[in-house]
Amino acid sequence: MTVSAKMSKLGTETAFDVLARAAALAGSGMDVINLGIGQPDFPTPPHIVEAGIRALKDGHHGYTAATGIPELREAVAEDIMARRGVAVSADHILIMPGGKMTMSFAIEMFGEIGAEILYPNPGFPIYESMIRYSGATPVPIPLLESAGFSFKAEDVLSLITEKTRLIIINTPANPTGGVIDRAELQKLADGLQNWPDVFILSDEIYSRMTYDGLGHCSLLEFENIRDRLILLDGWSKTYAMTGWRLGYGLWPASLIEYAKRLCVNYHSCVNSSAQYAGVAALTGDQSPVDEMMTAFDERRKLIVGRLNDMRGISCVMPKGAFYAFPNITETGMTAKEMQDLLLEKQGIATIAGTSFGASGEGYIRFSYANSSDNINKAMDRMSAAMTEIMGA
Ligand code: PLP
Repeated sequence: MTVSAKMSKLGTETAFDVLARAAALAGSGMDVINLGIGQPDFPTPPHIVEAGIRALKDGHHGYTAATGIPELREAVAEDIMARRGVAVSADHILIMPGGKMTMSFAIEMFGEIGAEILYPNPGFPIYESMIRYSGATPVPIPLLESAGFSFKAEDVLSLITEKTRLIIINTPANPTGGVIDRAELQKLADGLQNWPDVFILSDEIYSRMTYDGLGHCSLLEFENIRDRLILLDGWSKTYAMTGWRLGYGLWPASLIEYAKRLCVNYHSCVNSSAQYAGVAALTGDQSPVDEMMTAFDERRKLIVGRLNDMRGISCVMPKGAFYAFPNITETGMTAKEMQDLLLEKQGIATIAGTSFGASGEGYIRFSYANSSDNINKAMDRMSAAMTEIMGA
């Protein structure tokens, strides 16, 4: 058998491996608390589920347009107007099977041998994986704890070369919970004036998930880069719909036809009942989103407080998403050793920071999308393990 060489370049998302291992341990009788996988522990709100069921009962069983049903594309355009204050055409919106596919398409469009793509590190692992797969060279944008898991625009701009084709920005961020503030994004957009051929993929899948009244700054707000910005968002996190596989991309005029072709080649269209559910999500009652965020905020404070009480662990307060990214360097353990110890010995599923890139060494990611009781139970267990390692 001879598979193409690029197959060996594909990485993975360790969260799914940890999920499988956690399920196996639970199957063998271990009480496992899952703080690994990045998905809300809330059910999809009932009115959204109802809309999906109704669509099936109403006979929406066939293919839809490859771009998505018009009602949903319109609803997305209205939502972008309402939340980001920018008028966009529904013709530039593509409904996708999850948020991930927009990033894959963007990377595929620009990536090839000789090209460079900038991406956040630590960051969502699929960025680096897909960049390598495309043949392009991944150029990490380091997100350091000392910089609040953000970056200085000048540092990002200094990484751009004549070979740079695409820059990936993710705010609020996985795995750090960091948020890049408006002033820095403005500086980045200003600096990009000098690089008119560089496109930007803005992964805003956590756009509705910020705390302390921070709100969200979208890169779409900066007019000078709008004609080369690809915006990624979706329903997975905001509406607790990870398993429905529904997301969207907003594409600039210069790329939309390529993106449509990729849709037709890769997936034809998105599950039609999920698309009707997506309309109900955007146009219906938003209070379930607010309630979920209130719960996440309480858990955020709980888990960060508990982590900071442990010897050897320090954790900055995340500003967005639902992840805590504590520093474990004082324990002398690697991120992978800590992940394995917590899972195999303590029954706590977490993800090693190195799963998100080399800059994640010395950190582990906790998803606090779990009940306060479970978070407390996990923290009790971990605290006991840390006392054993570090001494009382
Ligand atoms: N982008 C980021 C930063 C994510 O963390 C995730 C999922 O964890 C995605 C995109 C993918 O979202 P989806 O499940 O909708 O494909």
